[in-house]
Amino acid sequence: MHLRRRILITGGAGFLGSHLCKRLLEDGHDILCLDNFFTGTKDNVLELLDHPHFELMRHDVTFPLYVEVDEIYNLACPASPIHYQHDPVQTTKTSVHGAINMLGLAKRTGAKIFQASTSEVYGDPKVHPQTEDYWGHVNPIGRRSCYDEGKRCAETLFFDYHRQHKLRIKVARIFNTYGPNMHPNDGRVVSNFIMQALRNEPITIYGDGSQTRSFCYVDDLIEAFVRLMDTPDDFTGPVNTGNPNEFTIKELAEKVIELTGSKSELVYKPLPTDDPTQRQPDITLAKEKLGWEPLVQLEEGLKKTIPYFEGLLRSV
Ligand code: NAD
Ligand code: UDP
Repeated sequence: MHLRRRILITGGAGFLGSHLCKRLLEDGHDILCLDNFFTGTKDNVLELLDHPHFELMRHDVTFPLYVEVDEIYNLACPASPIHYQHDPVQTTKTSVHGAINMLGLAKRTGAKIFQASTSEVYGDPKVHPQTEDYWGHVNPIGRRSCYDEGKRCAETLFFDYHRQHKLRIKVARIFNTYGPNMHPNDGRVVSNFIMQALRNEPITIYGDGSQTRSFCYVDDLIEAFVRLMDTPDDFTGPVNTGNPNEFTIKELAEKVIELTGSKSELVYKPLPTDDPTQRQPDITLAKEKLGWEPLVQLEEGLKKTIPYFEGLLRSV
């Protein structure tokens, strides 16, 4: 028998949150989408607003929240370096105070709670590919620290609430993900490169482009979230969620030019400080515990993403 669950999604009007809202509505649940619209927008959930089981609420997770729910997906936090470095104190508050408030809500209601953690907890990793038992190599006082250390502290809080208050927690460490509903100006590499290519502007490669990332298409990631939430209570994670196919940033630029038929040239800019040199998830644990692995590879995923950015350009 299908049970309709009341699900709170913080950061629900953002890139990942909007896809998660849609997916869980389709699965027949009641969705409370909460967002302060710092980086997310109503446009991302416009098509859901008339759905009888969807509710949108403007709220900042750094303030307490009193609602009755069965499950919480805590995604609220700016994710792109430009956005999270814009107001770094607020970024740390969002991760830490936001986690405390949502964990408090889970404690009062008995809800199961999911945390959108990140590969950034590994920092500039010295272990490759990254496994969940690696403790990371993180600068505590640099420009990325507000995000990295905020997310690390949130993980600490999740595990302490689990040990101390027996909360049912699920922690996913998300690796670079892309797809429709990404913010066009968020400075992330996939959105930047596609927008630049579509406008035939120079493609900005930071450093020499030899740094690597492994890119996951959004539908694959959302499937992992839902599967993780449904695992038995004794499985908490952290679990790496991402696509292990690794590319250099230069390879990504060339692929985007090819798929858009762009006339753009490559230009090289200084590498931002603490920019990780390589990143690739080891997803053995996700395969074993979630029975999951990504199905959409980079070229196919880019082909699904480019029309979204073309649509944005047509509408301005
Ligand atoms: P996003 O910026 O599109 O979404 C974040 C959402 O949170 C936005 O809608 C924003 O308005 C909202 N938000 C920010 N601060 C808030 C606050 N104080 N109160 C309420 N809402 C707030 O980013 P995304 O890519 O969708 O990321 C979602 C989550 O996944 C984030 O927690 C991020 O750290 C994590 N993550 C994403 C990636 C990725 O590649 N997309 C990788 C690792 C981790
Ligand atoms: N990057 C780049 N050009 C851009 C934007 C990003 O070369 O216009 C590089 C960036 O320096 C990093 C990689 O692409 O090495 C991924 O950057 P992003 O901000 O998307 O994510 P993160 O660094 O958080 O993985």
